[in-house]
Amino acid sequence: MAKDTNDILAQDAHLIQSFADLNALKQQGARTVISRAKGAYVYDSEGNELIDGIGGLWCVNIGHGNEEMVSAISNQLQTLDFYSTFYNFTHPAAAALAEKIAQLAPGHLNAVYFGNSGSVANDSAIRMLHHYNIRKGKPNKKLVLSRHGAYHGSTHLAMAMTTPGYSEGWHAASELVHHLRSPHHWREGGEMTEVEFLDALIDDLKQSIERIGAENICAFIAEPIQGAGGVVTAPAGYHKRAWEICQANDIKYVADEVVTAFGRLGHFFASEDVFGMVPDIITTAKGLTSGYQPLSATIVSDDIHEVISGPDGMFLHGMTYSGHPAAAAAGLTNIDIMEREGIPERVQTTGKQFENNLRGLMDIELVGEVRGSHFMMGIEFVKDRATKASHPAEAQVGLKVARACQKRGLIARPLGNVLILSPTLIMDAPMIDQIESTLRDAITEVAAGL
Ligand code: PMP
Repeated sequence: MAKDTNDILAQDAHLIQSFADLNALKQQGARTVISRAKGAYVYDSEGNELIDGIGGLWCVNIGHGNEEMVSAISNQLQTLDFYSTFYNFTHPAAAALAEKIAQLAPGHLNAVYFGNSGSVANDSAIRMLHHYNIRKGKPNKKLVLSRHGAYHGSTHLAMAMTTPGYSEGWHAASELVHHLRSPHHWREGGEMTEVEFLDALIDDLKQSIERIGAENICAFIAEPIQGAGGVVTAPAGYHKRAWEICQANDIKYVADEVVTAFGRLGHFFASEDVFGMVPDIITTAKGLTSGYQPLSATIVSDDIHEVISGPDGMFLHGMTYSGHPAAAAAGLTNIDIMEREGIPERVQTTGKQFENNLRGLMDIELVGEVRGSHFMMGIEFVKDRATKASHPAEAQVGLKVARACQKRGLIARPLGNVLILSPTLIMDAPMIDQIESTLRDAITEVAAGL
C-alpha cells in the first residue's frame, strides 16, 4: 500500500540524515520525499516529476531504473547472495570486476581493493601506503598532503584529509594531514595571472615538502576537479606538475576519482586522459555502479601491490562487504552498458554542450563564476561581480535558487553561494536546453527578489 507523504515524514523522524541541519529537520521535516525514479527523472511522493540535475549524488551515471542492472543484480543474488573475500576466499563477480577495472585503469594500476564508499576507498589508500612504507622500513613516512577545498569523505581519516571547515565540531585525525593552498584561481589568485598562480601553488607544494620532509610524507591526495568544495578546477597543467614533484620526492600521488571517473568528464578515468598523468593510486566509487549498489575501488600500482603482497606477514585490512557479489555484478553490468552505448565518448559532446550552455548564464549579473567541466559544473553567485563579494550566508542564495529550480521541475544542489549540477550522463540536447532555461528563470527570479 502506497504511503502518503505525512506517513513517510512521521517515520522519517527516526532517521539521522547526512550533511543536514538536524535541528531544522526536527522542526520542519525533510524537504522532499523521492519515491521513485526512471531514466533522467525522479518523482516525489506528491507525484511531481523532476529532472535529476545532480544524478543522485554525482553517481547515477547511466540513468535511473535500468532494467538490465536490476536483472544482473537479481541474478547474482540468486546465484550467490554473499561471500566474503577474507582469508583466501574469492568469488567470480569480484574477480571479474577487478580484472575489468585493471584493464580500464591507466598504466601500472592493476590491483584493486574494494570497499563500499568513497570514504573507505580513501582511508584504504592511506592505510595501504602506511603498510607499504612500514614494509619498506620507513615507518615515519605516513603524513598526507591534501588541499584546502578538498572533499575526501566522512570517515575519521577521510574527513581529516577533507578541507578543514568540515572537521569543525569533530575530532579529525588532523595530526596526519597538512593542507596545501586551494587551487581556485578566481577566488584565491588575487592579482596573479593563472600561470603565476600555478607557480605559486607549485611553490607551496615544494616548500611544504621541504619543511615537513619527504621522508615523513607518504601521499599527496587530490581530486582532479574538487567537487564538494564547490567544483573547482585547478590551473591547466597543475596536476601533471604536482605529480612530477611527487615522483621526484618518492611521494605517492593518490587521485580521488570518486566523482570524475566512469564517464562524468568523458572518459572512464580522468587522470591520464584529461590531466596527462598516471597516479600511483586511483580511488573511485559512485559511477562505478552508477549508484545501483554501494561499491568503491582503491586501484593501486604494481609497485604497491608487489610490496604489500611480499613475504613479510599479513595484510590486516578488510571490510566484510569488500567486493560484495551484488555490488560487483552491478559494477560489471554498469561498465558493460557504458562501453556498449559509448557513454563516455558521448559525454565528450553532450557534456561539452552542457558546460557551454551553463557558461552562457554568465550574462546574469548574480552569476560570478561558472566553472567545472562536462557534467560536473558549479555556478557561484555574487553580490558584486567586480569585487567578487558574496551575499551573506543568511541570504541563502544557493538554497533559494535550488528551490526556484525545484518549483520548475529541476533538482540542483545548493552549497552556500554555489549551485552544483551533476546530472545523469544520458542527457540529450533538448534536456540540456531545458536545464539551462530552468536555471536562467530560477536565477533571474531570485536575483529580482534580493
Ligand atoms: N571523494 C570525493 C571526491 C567525493 O565527492 C566523495 C563523496 N561525495 C567522497 C570521496 C566520499 O564518498 P562516500 O560518500 O561514498 O564515502
